[in-house]
Amino acid sequence: MYDEAPTVSNDEGARPLPVAHVNGFAPTLPEFRNVVRTLGQVVDVDYIIPGCPPTPKLLKEALLALLSGARPPKGSVLAPDIALCDECARKDSKPADLHIDAFRRPHTFAADSAICLLAQGVVCMGPATRGGCGAVCVAGNMACTGCFGPTSRVRDQGAKILSSLASNIPADDARGIDAVLAGIPDPVGTFYRYGLAASMLRRHLSPHP
Ligand code: SF4
Ligand code: SF4
Repeated sequence: MYDEAPTVSNDEGARPLPVAHVNGFAPTLPEFRNVVRTLGQVVDVDYIIPGCPPTPKLLKEALLALLSGARPPKGSVLAPDIALCDECARKDSKPADLHIDAFRRPHTFAADSAICLLAQGVVCMGPATRGGCGAVCVAGNMACTGCFGPTSRVRDQGAKILSSLASNIPADDARGIDAVLAGIPDPVGTFYRYGLAASMLRRHLSPHP
């Protein structure tokens, strides 16, 4: 606790500061690197518990599995290897043949809480995302943003959903396709919110990080 507000020099407008001089102290931040890596690209990972954050149920099941001695193979993802759509309560309302004329952002309308969000034009990452959370976001009428990552059959989560959505856009010329995709103002942030470092699009790892 400070008796009065600390004075921090930030003349160049750099935030956050690598070093801040505060009341006689100089706390520092670790050096920033020019790439973002997954944990597995830096250290040897034994098991992966997906989610941001993982659900308590998944954590409990993972701990019990590890404590039981019947350990899964090293590198396993400790969650069901099924797509989120498979455990979503709205899966029966998802048309086998989707036609998306326009994407809608969830804050611009009241989505029907019984109908698949993709069928309503809301980008839902369910088809490209691993199940295991019980589709909690969809239960709250919010689209899945993909925090459980892909299933083992999906090489690149963002590319998978992009490919899936592109095949459901009925427009067949560049102008029409662009008009539909304009409803997704931040494609990288939407499709790779959690997985850019692990994706095929990631920046090439530099020998001089
Ligand atoms: S796309 Fe989303 S809302 Fe539709 S079934 Fe899959 S998880 Fe549920
Ligand atoms: S619905 Fe999607 S974003 Fe929400 S917790 Fe499940 S995997 Fe994560």
